[in-house]
Amino acid sequence: MKRLSFKKGIMPKDGLDFEKQRKFLREALLEVCSPKEVTIPMKQHTGTECDPVVSVGNEVALGDLIGVPSDMRGVPVHASVSGTVTRIDTIRLPNKVRCKAVTIKNDLRRRVSPKIQPRKDISRLSLSELQKLLWNSGICGMGGEGEPTYTKCLRAQEREVDTLLVNCTQSEPFLACDLHHIRVNAAKVLEGAMALSGICHVKNVIFCIEDTWSDEIVALQKAVTDIRHRYLDRKIEIQLFKTRFPQGCQQLLVKAIYGVELPLGCEMEERVKAVLFNASTCYAFSEMIEKNQPLTSRIVTISGDTITGHNVLVPIGTSVEEILERVPGAHTAQRIVWGGAMTGVAIDTLNVPIIKTTTAITIIRRFEPPRTNCIHCGACIGACPVGLSPNLLNRLIELGRQDMLESESVEQCIACGACSYVCPAGIELSTNIAKAAHRARRSAVR
Ligand code: SF4
Ligand code: SF4
Repeated sequence: MKRLSFKKGIMPKDGLDFEKQRKFLREALLEVCSPKEVTIPMKQHTGTECDPVVSVGNEVALGDLIGVPSDMRGVPVHASVSGTVTRIDTIRLPNKVRCKAVTIKNDLRRRVSPKIQPRKDISRLSLSELQKLLWNSGICGMGGEGEPTYTKCLRAQEREVDTLLVNCTQSEPFLACDLHHIRVNAAKVLEGAMALSGICHVKNVIFCIEDTWSDEIVALQKAVTDIRHRYLDRKIEIQLFKTRFPQGCQQLLVKAIYGVELPLGCEMEERVKAVLFNASTCYAFSEMIEKNQPLTSRIVTISGDTITGHNVLVPIGTSVEEILERVPGAHTAQRIVWGGAMTGVAIDTLNVPIIKTTTAITIIRRFEPPRTNCIHCGACIGACPVGLSPNLLNRLIELGRQDMLESESVEQCIACGACSYVCPAGIELSTNIAKAAHRARRSAVR
């Protein structure tokens, strides 16, 4: 089968120490985290913050509604454990979002909301019922992008898209949260994807996966064969991609499949008539369809440069501190990253919660500060998937030349981290450039 890709980026063989250390446990059964308390933010998605609908002292069950958005640009928030609401205060997340958060002391009895029940016959659900379930599910893009899935489906309908892409690439080194669902729950990933394709009114569904994930490809192929007879009106395909980071980025998938550049601010749905959902997002929707189970937990990959990585099922709102309690060596780490090794945010306190978009916790034990000034090797230019010159941009940032940064298209940076990863001088290019890109985008909309 033809394998698609894009130019530049990084291949695993380019990896520095990180890649050489890559080890990962592929458990069939997940470790489940049971926290003492959870702090659940009211804004874990792009769009509108939710208002809490519980008060201090209230008893809640797992799956109870605890936050509602004021308009359609948000997603509802649900209790991820059963217990007592002990605090409602304002917190600041590592991604700089400030919002209210509801803290629930876990009673460890796992009392589940009576609304969560296996559904007898999912084939009888109409499209409007599926759409209502999607709204009530509280699902947003779980690959890290965080757009409310309901809103994305509405946009896909309005733009009359004809193709639904399922992002199964998992191209970021050390990340394996989606892979678990694809390998172990492929039928459910497909179930969720096909339901989303119905809501979006599309006839083509393409599962996008890197060629390195052979077990997951086999699982997807089997699931496609098993489900095809139920969806004879739709074309279902699996498309392979070369193993290259950051292949999972929306712009680069579009470039690889359609050969089209997707400039920042340009809607994929409008430009190529396709809509993209992450594999874990599809899985989460299948849980809602089958059990009326809203999004209250997610798989988080725990990995790093000197530990064997593994996946853990984590209730939303669990603190990083509680997750790392049982990870040997985590407390002597040089650096903890909230998210993937390449795209995550370094945190200086472990008292931050896992949210719906947190894919990983990465533990760096051998972090080294910059070793030299730029040696002009050009490796960062060779790695940047959107064609920027990270060394030049970093120099302009040091000189405070925002005007020149904009003429060098700094706003196109997708914060993938590839430039920092390959830099032999250890310069933190991506952090600096991503911040400058954010400033440039903000000033462009003013
Ligand atoms: S400049 Fe931005 S897009 Fe380019 S490699 Fe660095 S982080 Fe990625
Ligand atoms: S990779 Fe690092 S050392 Fe090489 S040109 Fe880029 S900034 Fe300079």
